[in-house]
Amino acid sequence: MKVLFASSEIYPLVKTGGLADVSAGLPAALQTLGQEIMLIMPAYTDALAVAGEVQEVATMQVSGCGQQRSVRLLRGILDRIGCSLLLVEIEGLFDRPGNPYQTLSGEDWPDNGERFALFSQVVADVALDRFNLHWQPEIVHCNDWQTGLVPALLSREDPNQRPGTVFTIHNLSYGGHFPYLLFEELGLPPEWWHFTRIEFYGSMSMLKAGIVFADYVTTVSPSYADEICTEEHGFGLHAVLQQRQKQGRLQGILNGIDTQIWNPQHDPYLPFHYSAQRGRVARRKQNKLALLQLLDKEHATALLSAPLIGFIGRLIEQKGIDLIIQALPELMKSTNASFVIVGTGIHLFERQLTALARQFSRRIFVRIDYSEKLAHLIEGGADMFLMPSRFEPCGLNQMYSLIYGTLPIVHATGGLKDTVIDTNKTTLENGTATGFVFDSLTPATLCYTVQRALLQYQRPRRWQAMQKTAMLQDFSWQNSAQTYLNLYHQASPQGVLYACTTT
Ligand code: ADP
Repeated sequence: MKVLFASSEIYPLVKTGGLADVSAGLPAALQTLGQEIMLIMPAYTDALAVAGEVQEVATMQVSGCGQQRSVRLLRGILDRIGCSLLLVEIEGLFDRPGNPYQTLSGEDWPDNGERFALFSQVVADVALDRFNLHWQPEIVHCNDWQTGLVPALLSREDPNQRPGTVFTIHNLSYGGHFPYLLFEELGLPPEWWHFTRIEFYGSMSMLKAGIVFADYVTTVSPSYADEICTEEHGFGLHAVLQQRQKQGRLQGILNGIDTQIWNPQHDPYLPFHYSAQRGRVARRKQNKLALLQLLDKEHATALLSAPLIGFIGRLIEQKGIDLIIQALPELMKSTNASFVIVGTGIHLFERQLTALARQFSRRIFVRIDYSEKLAHLIEGGADMFLMPSRFEPCGLNQMYSLIYGTLPIVHATGGLKDTVIDTNKTTLENGTATGFVFDSLTPATLCYTVQRALLQYQRPRRWQAMQKTAMLQDFSWQNSAQTYLNLYHQASPQGVLYACTTT
């Protein structure tokens, strides 16, 4: 099958979160299944710098908000996975430094609406071969609000002539909401300004456009697919999501992870490689020492025997970092564990964490940083991994933690619930326990669950058995890619025709 895969981030060209990992991992797995994938992403300045050789293959003009802009399509190969890549250069919109969505001082670019609406317009034009590339996909797979207008624009075409559309929600909390003025300036059909289309409480929602107009909507774990249909987790979109679910058009497909990059047997960031094989897991201790030496050279050896608990992620409320901050003083009193926390995010949380690291300088290590090296070393060296997310569409770190034997402590939500098996009498007896799961989101429950984990940690043989069970879980992309492929077949023009005649 020919698939055009549209995303605003693709690892390693540009990454702000899990979307980038998925946008490389899934296409790679689909290629392995024999499919023909073309990636398409904006030509950000930083991405161009690492994309290697690219060639201009087409040019065009698009009408933006009140002005004509030149578009250049640059074609290359995403080396690491050997996948065809189109970078979309739109005059004045993506040739900016840093983050794809924000200025260097952390504000959203004021013209984000126009930037991604025009990117979506170009994606739709490529999908219809209006750039004369002599390549037409059967499926356009769109991701998150930045590509939400693509299914909407394609819905205006003859269903037999246009490709099928799949829209994946990676995080419902980012809606891509913009004022009516943008809707007008883009010249979108007036009838779309309706609550059953893309109007959302007086704004235009690009996320809603994807949800309403795509042939199929997916999200990144089965539990999250159910959760977003509830008022509590639906961010105001639960009714429309419920409708898509009733039509059989909403599906949760668990993300995979890239086992080339995340594999303790050959991870280049780890000084000592290990596997679940007999006698190998114990080597993690050497990585723990290397990690501790990086954090506190002087006391590393002394800290080695105490449990070390890691956290890596964006320092935002979604990730429950505020709960960790509230629980840490109590955890300092009631346990002997040390903590290493790596991330960037809301300044208040950064400041609070830095203050805690100063107050408990021997046991709390905080790095306000984005560091691949530390992330890998924590997965390969810490004993446990903390992920008390309020909601988590899928989450990657808990899966990395499982296959690295860093037993995760997680809130029972979304993908966390779907991947971690709580330790209790039954799961200990039948050998399925892989971590620690809690329901109630309070600092007290978090403390209690950490204590529960520490109790098991004191029994090394049992702990190692759990580590091995965790490390043998299969989170490779292969299974999920096959599920996406089945969906592509249903969503392709023949599939759409079939659906129309049977519903
Ligand atoms: P989200 O996409 O919501 O940020 P995920 O768990 O799905 O959360 O994916 C986050 C990805 O970003 C993971 O690959 C994680 O290792 C990485 N990451 C997040 N923060 C950092 C950081 N400070 N340093 C290194 N990697 C990070």
